[in-house]
Amino acid sequence: MALSRSKMALMRHRTANRSGIVIRRRVTPAGDILVTLLTPQGKLKAIARGGVKGPLSSSLNLFHHVGVQVYQGPHNDLASIKQAVLEGALPKLAEPERYAFAHLIAEFADALFQEGEFSEQAFELFAGALRGISHQQDAEWVALVMSYKLLGLAGILPQTARCARCGNPDPIHPDPLGGQLLCGNCAALPPYPPESLDFLRGAVRRTVRANIESPVPADQRPALWRALERFVSVQIGNVQSWRQLVPYAEAGQI
Ligand SMILES: [Zn+2]
Repeated sequence: MALSRSKMALMRHRTANRSGIVIRRRVTPAGDILVTLLTPQGKLKAIARGGVKGPLSSSLNLFHHVGVQVYQGPHNDLASIKQAVLEGALPKLAEPERYAFAHLIAEFADALFQEGEFSEQAFELFAGALRGISHQQDAEWVALVMSYKLLGLAGILPQTARCARCGNPDPIHPDPLGGQLLCGNCAALPPYPPESLDFLRGAVRRTVRANIESPVPADQRPALWRALERFVSVQIGNVQSWRQLVPYAEAGQI
């Protein structure tokens, strides 16, 4: 049966080539691979039906940069992956500590950016974060810096100029409930050390490189992770899977 011209145009339209990084991957009991890709055109969820047994399996791995051909059927809303070509991989991310931080930042990007939301900058920042976590010696510091940079890009920023509770200027104490800053009158915890305070106030506006080059001492980082975890939990819903990956978030005093 010959297809009309318009119908053929429609079918062509439904097949698209996209390039992105696998930030989430799940295999269903039926052997399908469900993936979420972060692409310069936004987040894309897609399924490779029967993918586990086929040639797509090895290319559709977590943190791989892949080029995919997807087909969007007329009735099912989940795009179907027809082909996948590996465009780049960072083998050092397989090291356990680096893997943990890559996983954390991937879940974070997934929570921050919505499907279909266009953000070339988010893609570039995320790709840079993975490269940094792969190559830099201090993977934890890269993950912390890039988490705050991604927050800044999403436009969700902790308040640092005024106390989150009463509005007094220049707060320097942790805010254990909201992950922001409190003044001396409102706070129950001792103030942040100067390095942490400088990071919280300046991380988003400084360049990635400037941040990476002045790391906060390791013993101050648990408090920074806790603040990030609290802030994101309060400001963004549905971050359960991300929260479980944040180091120290559960252990510390809240
Ligand atoms: Zn206050």
